[in-house]
Amino acid sequence: MRVILMGPPGSGKGTQAASIAKRLGVESASSGDLFRDHQRRGTELGQLARSYMERGAYVPDDVTIKMVMAWIDDPAHSAGFVLDGFPRTHAQAVALDEEMKSQGGVDRVLFFRVSDTELVRRLTGRMICRQCQTPYHAISSPPKQECVCDACGGELYERDDDKAEVVSKRIQVYGDETEPVVEFYRRRGTLREIDGEATIDAVGEAVAAAVSG
Ligand code: AMP
Repeated sequence: MRVILMGPPGSGKGTQAASIAKRLGVESASSGDLFRDHQRRGTELGQLARSYMERGAYVPDDVTIKMVMAWIDDPAHSAGFVLDGFPRTHAQAVALDEEMKSQGGVDRVLFFRVSDTELVRRLTGRMICRQCQTPYHAISSPPKQECVCDACGGELYERDDDKAEVVSKRIQVYGDETEPVVEFYRRRGTLREIDGEATIDAVGEAVAAAVSG
């Protein structure tokens, strides 16, 4: 099973990716997390990505496609995967199509619909675990102990690109670049729309139904 999670920043893709992958018995990857991992390791790719990410801009297609295709090509992911945050541009969708041609294509594209007001509320106040990437929110889903991850005890931090001025830029770039890709999959008939404003459990159930249905 090959599943793509699409939706604006803050729509809950990351929260659902790991659980849906576990249910399907495959691995998940977030292109944003792959970039952040490169940054932590101080690679050339990480440094290049940082200059785009801190402005809320997309990393150029050639670099992004190469990095994600390397992940897909890993034999550990040949049975299937859940991809969160890729493709985000038309060129990325075309590259993924090309790559998937011999394997029967992508099985499901799930689109998380959330209003702009709710996205801003979620992203400003979001904290993420440095170790396991579990997201929290200062008001709606705070950790039991301040700045400590409930799941693994890791340290929580606020992403630089979750600062208010960068958040609005990210939402604008999403509208310009990624909404047309959502329409591309909708026309093709592979898209399943999820109400991303429901509770985390309800979204999880909708995702499970969309993947099995
Ligand atoms: P995310 O963690 O998905 O919110 O992504 C954080 C940032 O990483 C984005 O704002 C982009 O700068 C970059 N990024 C992640 N995925 C992609 C992608 N598919 N194409 C281009 N840039 C991306």
